[in-house]
Amino acid sequence: MASFADFHARSLNDRDAFWAEQAQLIDWQTPPQEICDHSNPPFTRWFAGGTTNLCHNAVDRHLKDRADQAALIFVSTETNQEVTYTFRQLHAEVQRVAAMLLELGIKKGDRVLIYMPMIAEAAFAMLACTRIGALHSVVFGGFASGSLASRIDNATPTVVISADAGSRSGKVVPYKPLLDEAITLAKHKPSAVLLVDRGLSAMNLVEGRDHLYGPLRDKHLNTEVPCEWVDATHPSYTLYTSGTTGKPKGVQRDTGGYAVALAASMKHIFQGNPGETYFSTSDIGWVVGHSYIIYGPLIAGMATIMYEGLPTRPDAGVWWNLVEKYKVTVMFSAPTAVRVLKKQDPAFLKKYDLSSLRALFLAGEPLDEPTAEWISEALGVPIIDNYWQTESGWPILTIANGIEKAPSKFGSPGIPMYGYNVKLINENTNEEMTEPGEKGVVVIEGPMPPGFMQTVWQDDKRFVDTYWSSIPGRMVYSTFDWATRDKDGYFFILGRTDDVINVAGHRLGTREIEESISSHPNVAEVAVVGVADQLKGQVAMAFVIIKDPSKVADDAAKLTLEGEIMKVVDSQLGAVARPSRVRFVTALPKTRSGKLLRRAIQAVCEQRDAGDLTTIEDPMALKQIQDMFPPA
Ligand code: AMP
Repeated sequence: MASFADFHARSLNDRDAFWAEQAQLIDWQTPPQEICDHSNPPFTRWFAGGTTNLCHNAVDRHLKDRADQAALIFVSTETNQEVTYTFRQLHAEVQRVAAMLLELGIKKGDRVLIYMPMIAEAAFAMLACTRIGALHSVVFGGFASGSLASRIDNATPTVVISADAGSRSGKVVPYKPLLDEAITLAKHKPSAVLLVDRGLSAMNLVEGRDHLYGPLRDKHLNTEVPCEWVDATHPSYTLYTSGTTGKPKGVQRDTGGYAVALAASMKHIFQGNPGETYFSTSDIGWVVGHSYIIYGPLIAGMATIMYEGLPTRPDAGVWWNLVEKYKVTVMFSAPTAVRVLKKQDPAFLKKYDLSSLRALFLAGEPLDEPTAEWISEALGVPIIDNYWQTESGWPILTIANGIEKAPSKFGSPGIPMYGYNVKLINENTNEEMTEPGEKGVVVIEGPMPPGFMQTVWQDDKRFVDTYWSSIPGRMVYSTFDWATRDKDGYFFILGRTDDVINVAGHRLGTREIEESISSHPNVAEVAVVGVADQLKGQVAMAFVIIKDPSKVADDAAKLTLEGEIMKVVDSQLGAVARPSRVRFVTALPKTRSGKLLRRAIQAVCEQRDAGDLTTIEDPMALKQIQDMFPPA
């Protein structure tokens, strides 16, 4: 076995040869002319001149060897459905959707917004888009009309694909009314809406605009739609993510680099083999869903499980039952889900035969040691933490057992992966931190490896300004995460440097939540911070100054207003962004220049020392919050 250190060194020092080799893992219609074009930093063009197609690599390529093997296994414990699609059937379904999109006027380069629950049709839709060179923009089904409208305006989709409803814990969650509201709110109007009718919730169809998936599919049962060969640098999708400003960014991904990056990661990191089953419990609305429910496993010729439902319903054995039934070899989940399961009866883990499972990968938020230890003991397989971002598309820090077996260290996601030149930088001096234990901001030196975002959709300037301009005089990519590194080079992530919080693995911008709360007529000012939570990692906590204090004269009035404010967030952004509490104050702690002291507020909420407060304008403002969270 090669040493990982050599593998990593070669990925940086002999970059083109290294990635030319990895490029052999996928099918090309025309081979790449140039491996890495970094002539215009920080932009990187991978495999330019080569033509390929993501859908071909995920689906058509496997027809030769495994047409009748499982490709997509759709399981819903909400609607009690369980359907397996072979590669042949998946190929047929994807072509049907591609034909529908062509009929609705979609051309190469057009955007298709997908706002859907976790159903098989959502996977068909994503693959149908990349098949014809259209860009998908999946919006998480938990987002409400305001979030959806801003994404519609930014992506300017020609077509939106949605459904009547999702379902959560047996409760129908209608999608169509939210979509209609979002389209009303948005300036951009999609020309067509394609709707899957699951029979869960009645839909009012808008004439001329809305089309039902079922009847349109029937028209195209036998329509063949060949893959559109696109340049490796052709964008495959945009996916919105939160940052410091209130406006979400459209992370734009290419085609060839992404396909190569995923194929390589499936081999070196996830070690999934063709014909086996992969089970990621994420949602297609997040990057893990894009890379490791849909494209990664399928590119590797694996069957992938798409699961709609909770980890605890009908009981806490539901996932392990699927592992046994479908002989899952590789599983991917989030620490929050494991913490939820940890509270349930451990007997559920013993009830099923889990011998097929080789590893459980966890990502999205810090994995605490007790959780890691509990699941490691319960499963008896390696628990592999991996750190990455929507921007990167695949793991930045983890261990690559496909190259060289390395131990996991609980509390650390691991070491920098091949292709990533990761450094820790002191925020004040901009110097590189090289000694074990030193704390710094995690930055990456370009060129970024294949799979990394190309740019911010339609905003190159924002890409450069946001990610590449935080260290003066040095063009490096900032992850906006703090970390330390131990003597073996293992990183320990300590949290974000910006105003992003992480609730149950969901990345949320506190500014977005603040903007939403500010729209309540009685709110004068608001600060939202992330506060440590035993189950969800973090929760959002809001501190509000109200315009008319007589509205919160007693506890009952406070509770009513708190409920109203939560409803505003629910209806604009979605319940996922709802603060766990809204607290009322008469002042917010700020510096003399008027900057909110978020870190101090957060520290006080977590009963930690508030740090350096020499610049605080009004210490009483912080005292008010301190009094709400007396030291334990
Ligand atoms: P997202 O773009 O939604 O995947 O969120 C990315 C952010 O989640 C990172 O910048 C980290 O703050 C956090 N994150 C993701 N994975 C991990 C991990 N394994 N350990 C610690 N933090 C993580």
